[in-house]
Amino acid sequence: MASPWKPRGTARHDGRARLRPRRAAGDGAHFVEASVTASIELALDQAYSERQLIHVLWLTTGLGCDGESVAMTAATHPSLEDLLRGILPGAPRLVIYNPLLAYETGEEFTAPFRRAAAGGLNPYVLVLEGSVANEEISGEGHWAAMGVDPDDGQPITTSAWIDRLAPRAAAVLAMGTCAAFGGIPAMRGNPTGAMGLRDYLGSDWRSRLGIPIINLPGCPVQPDNITETLLHLAFRIGGVERDLDLDDLGRPRWLCERTVQEGCGRAGFAEQGKFAQTPADRHGCLVKLGCKGPVVKCNVPTRGWVAGVGGCPNVGGICIACTMPGFPDKFMPFMAPSRLGLAAAAGARFTYGPVMRRLRERAIRHHFDVEPGWRRTGKSLGTGYRPRW
Ligand code: SF4
Ligand code: SF4
Repeated sequence: MASPWKPRGTARHDGRARLRPRRAAGDGAHFVEASVTASIELALDQAYSERQLIHVLWLTTGLGCDGESVAMTAATHPSLEDLLRGILPGAPRLVIYNPLLAYETGEEFTAPFRRAAAGGLNPYVLVLEGSVANEEISGEGHWAAMGVDPDDGQPITTSAWIDRLAPRAAAVLAMGTCAAFGGIPAMRGNPTGAMGLRDYLGSDWRSRLGIPIINLPGCPVQPDNITETLLHLAFRIGGVERDLDLDDLGRPRWLCERTVQEGCGRAGFAEQGKFAQTPADRHGCLVKLGCKGPVVKCNVPTRGWVAGVGGCPNVGGICIACTMPGFPDKFMPFMAPSRLGLAAAAGARFTYGPVMRRLRERAIRHHFDVEPGWRRTGKSLGTGYRPRW
């Protein structure tokens, strides 16, 4: 199959050179000319990008539970259907090879993976869901595999698929906390030596487009975070978007920079020293019930779960830190409040919290929750308006 992918800076761009302004914009006319040229270039980039087809090879045979594959079907902004139909302006169309979504089974399903490993599928994104088992300690068996090698009749382990597919991938995406950091299968005492994809390939690893491994944590990942990241990758590979903004751990910064508490609908209660006693309490911060929100990076409280609805602490669920590299060990037992959380709660509850609450309640009752006095009937105007003519 011919590759629809061309890197930026090929003849396609050279052919447009005549559209560029001959000198830098120094006056209004040149500024307009430069703007028009930039718009034309963007339109050409988008048109080129829309004609592309990007393959997403999605391995669900890491050590995991397929939670992200299920979650993705609930995405709305953008939806899975939007990505597959390629209806978003400037976005290439995606073809996703995922066993949960596929009609094909067995050899028919693994055929595109084999074609990609042989260099016959381009460009593609490799997605791993689930953590990477250490096959060096699997003895005579194996921990995780997909398909059978026709040459020796042996199962092809997930790590062998990663070894075959990662070198040709335009980008590699570790989907979910298991794939990103190891997650639940990598808990202390596990027998498989499970690890995250960066632990396996190395944190300095780069794709052939120079993109680091992208870590998208969550257990499971918030559905729209999945499709939005795939869309950004499609734009990046399509040539419309420049570098993705990733943090030091490879997480999309725009999704993961705020803590749960910074986006939580209950954070105001914490500031005022009001704490829930049970998950059913409609008012009060959940930190005394074990919520880890103040030290966890996650956008679920602001984004919700499905179509903007839900979001753990917003609906009474404590945050158990499922997006974090230390999950789950560093946050267990989940229902026990941390000493830091209790100290912060005691500080807010016995010092400034009640004072702030009383002052605010008073101000609300007497000032802000009251209509201005000039809104009334009568022959006089009390608004302070002064006629100027
Ligand atoms: S991160 Fe959670 S939802 Fe995703 S595969 Fe692992 S256990 Fe399942
Ligand atoms: S709020 Fe906490 S428990 Fe909920 S998804 Fe985010 S990190 Fe996980």
